[in-house]
Amino acid sequence: MRTVPGRTDSVVVVGAGLGGLATALHLAGAGRSVTVVEREAVPGGRAGLLRDHGYHFDTGPTVLTMPQLLERPLAAVGENLADWLTLRRLEPAYRARFRDGSRIDLYTDLDAMTEEIAVTCGPRDAAGYRRFVEYLHTLYEVEMPHFIDRNLDAALELVGLPALRLLAMGGFGRLSRRVGRYFKDERLRRLFSFQSMYAGLSPAQALAIYSVITYMDSVAGVYFPVGGMHAVPRALAGAAAAHGVRFQYSTTATRIEVTGGRATAVITDRGERIPADVVVVNADLPVAYRELLPPGYIPRGVRRLRYSPSAVVLHVGSSAHYDGTHHTIDFGDKWEATFDEIIEQGLPMSDPSFLVTNPTATDSSLAPAERQTYYVLFPTPNLQRRGRPPIDWAEFGPRYRDHMLDTLEARGYPAFRDGIECAHVVTPADWRAQGLAAGAPFAAAHSFFQTGPFRAPTLDRGIENLVFTGSNTQPGVGVPMVLVSGRLAAERVIGPVAAA
Ligand SMILES: Cc1cc2nc3c(=O)[nH]c(=O)nc-3n(C[C@H](O)[C@H](O)[C@H](O)COP(=O)(O)OP(=O)(O)OC[C@H]3O[C@@H](n4cnc5c(N)ncnc54)[C@H](O)[C@@H]3O)c2cc1C
Repeated sequence: MRTVPGRTDSVVVVGAGLGGLATALHLAGAGRSVTVVEREAVPGGRAGLLRDHGYHFDTGPTVLTMPQLLERPLAAVGENLADWLTLRRLEPAYRARFRDGSRIDLYTDLDAMTEEIAVTCGPRDAAGYRRFVEYLHTLYEVEMPHFIDRNLDAALELVGLPALRLLAMGGFGRLSRRVGRYFKDERLRRLFSFQSMYAGLSPAQALAIYSVITYMDSVAGVYFPVGGMHAVPRALAGAAAAHGVRFQYSTTATRIEVTGGRATAVITDRGERIPADVVVVNADLPVAYRELLPPGYIPRGVRRLRYSPSAVVLHVGSSAHYDGTHHTIDFGDKWEATFDEIIEQGLPMSDPSFLVTNPTATDSSLAPAERQTYYVLFPTPNLQRRGRPPIDWAEFGPRYRDHMLDTLEARGYPAFRDGIECAHVVTPADWRAQGLAAGAPFAAAHSFFQTGPFRAPTLDRGIENLVFTGSNTQPGVGVPMVLVSGRLAAERVIGPVAAA
């Protein structure tokens, strides 16, 4: 593994997203002097917080999966997860609703889910589910140590026994076909393959190796922290501050000073120059190359990235109460066509599939008494041009909000409008304004050539002490991956970190 040569005593981290916070904890635990510069007034980045009329809205991720990955950065400074965060396991983790009026609850408990499938889809698919889970376990065990949980500098590092095992397991076949081997019922095929969209691919395009996302998202346990998802970055930042990490909030890094092939300082909008032996960038990687580094210093691969779909999120504080399910995925009838619309054609979904989260179902403290919060996420195209100009959200946003409300009212949330006490809409244009390339909150797609050693490494190839963490670097997008990337970034500075 390449590491930063020379002095590494003082480190400046640009951004207090989950990636930056994990890096800061590992570095502080290894005795480095760490300063974090964060543009916003609070930590968390995409795992942010919006407050209005006594309602607390998580702005990004709605669930915590793989919480054990939080233990390692905290252990680096001698802290325990349980002292910083109270987690509630969600069972069912999701409720899936279909246009024929049927529903399937998704449990992460093996026996409960087998039973649910037996009742809703029959014994054959229930047996298929147990085999599917076994497959996912094995896939995870092969992929995690060899392809996810390590820095990969060259494609050659992929070659070897683990890759052969993946090949033998059909990992390089298509995801939809793989899932189809375990389930006859079309609803289950959708339920266990739609997660590929988080990676920016349709199940028909994605390789079966990406079903590891299904494992993390829907099999290995789904949790909700007391206080909401924003409690996660608050916990990490609290522990980091308690162990000497200095935070400068409401401070934007405007430039990274580079002298003689080394990053020497971070310049801020407060006119400060913060000297550094190492600079770690948690700001979105393509944007950082364009805006913080010397003009023209951007790798060709980064210039050509293809991004995952974006999303419109509607946050609603409401007096209306429905079935009290924490997460509901409402599937439209269309399937392949939906992926085609948002990924290939750059069009909004004509028959929406969407997510409704009702966090107050699990933690009533997130709203005033007798009130609810709803978080409604509709996948949309990102702002990359595909033969046609991207959607103009300033003009289209208000109409799309109406479309979302109409859809909700038609799909099991009657009189949704009447309950609204406050509402906020976040569009791809807003994600871009928050500094996310192509307005894509789920980063560069995980197509084969944008994954593993083909994804931007955590150590720059030219500037020898410039380190990256976050979803546009290895291993990729999502809370679990970004926490891993935080450790991988730290390892570029301090060498391998022992397992917790
Ligand atoms: C709507 C939505 C839903 C999601 N749902 C899930 C989910 O359910 N499960 C899941 O696992 N993942 C989910 N994700 C993805 C997950 O939230 C992200 O992958 C992860 O939080 C990204 O973390 P990060 O550290 O890469 O970057 P960020 O969170 O983007 O952090 C970067 C930080 O850098 C700061 N910054 C940027 N530029 C500067 C600058 N110039 N100076 C100073 N500071 C700067 C930003 O303010 C930010 O705080 C979701 C994301 C979104 C947006």
